[in-house]
Amino acid sequence: MLSTLLATLPLRAAEPRLQAVVDAAYAAFREDEGGEVAGYIPALAKVDPAHFAVVIVTVDGEVHVAGDSGRSFAIMSAAKPFTLALLLQQLGPGIVLEKIGVEPTGLPFNALSNIENPPLAPLNPMVNAGAITAVSLLQAASAAERWSGLLDWYSAFAGERLELLEPVYQSVASGGYRNHAVADLLQLHGMLGASPAETLDVYNRQSSVGVTARQLAVMGATLANGGLNPLTGQQVMRRDYVDEVLALMLLSGFYDESGWWAYTAGIPAKSGVGGGVVAVVPGRMAIAGYSPRLSPAGNSVRGMRAVQYIASELELSLFLPVHRARNSRHGEN
Ligand code: GLN
Repeated sequence: MLSTLLATLPLRAAEPRLQAVVDAAYAAFREDEGGEVAGYIPALAKVDPAHFAVVIVTVDGEVHVAGDSGRSFAIMSAAKPFTLALLLQQLGPGIVLEKIGVEPTGLPFNALSNIENPPLAPLNPMVNAGAITAVSLLQAASAAERWSGLLDWYSAFAGERLELLEPVYQSVASGGYRNHAVADLLQLHGMLGASPAETLDVYNRQSSVGVTARQLAVMGATLANGGLNPLTGQQVMRRDYVDEVLALMLLSGFYDESGWWAYTAGIPAKSGVGGGVVAVVPGRMAIAGYSPRLSPAGNSVRGMRAVQYIASELELSLFLPVHRARNSRHGEN
């Protein structure tokens, strides 16, 4: 019934229609208790699994929220596309092809098997090994600058000052043995641009940045808007590198669930084990979901379902011909 209503309204006259779909997605999955909170990071294991938020931010700067949209959570791997964006901004797309790779791994996010023995199996910036490599390759004069540069960069995407969640950082830094192993193996193979200790510390900090679902949606909307933050008007990143980021999000944003995601939702997205999901519809909007319960692959169950619901209701899949036809009818580009 909702989809019938939605289909009759032009997308640009968006206010009521987008708020209605955000509310409907929130209502549809509010009682859904599928998945488990991340157990391997103690600070995340303590988060209330009932938290749930759904947000749309459009390229025009419209914001539509439902649920706990102002509650901070750890960004975790949802930071990875934005770190990739900084690496592209600093060194251009060639560095990723040369030093990291762009192929889906089909493996869990924290896999070691693909980096154990040369020749190394595929790697990309959306999984831990590739993201740790990306952090090490960022241009910085010191460890402090590597971290402050990243935090400033994320904050520009969010349009607000973001902060480290100190208890999460302590929790991540005091364990994280797999990531230690990943960094050591990468160093062994000569892939890191900075020491394993410095790289891992900055990687742990990037994972521990606090965001709200609203902030994460603004970050995504900045990508949707060609790198220009629709709320602040700042051109945060080069427009011509956005498509590289989105391509890798679509191929690997949900690790070994990425194929299923592309098949069912058809839009680039990225998750984090803190429960965040950010999906980007180029030229139109970003959708963020937040819910701490995760699928076995480490992706927020309600976050994914809420985004899928909205993508389906609004026919947002990049692969739907109807999407283009409707856009051109309403004079969008
Ligand atoms: N910091 C987490 C880790 O490296 C991020 C993983 C994730 O969100 N998938 O284990």
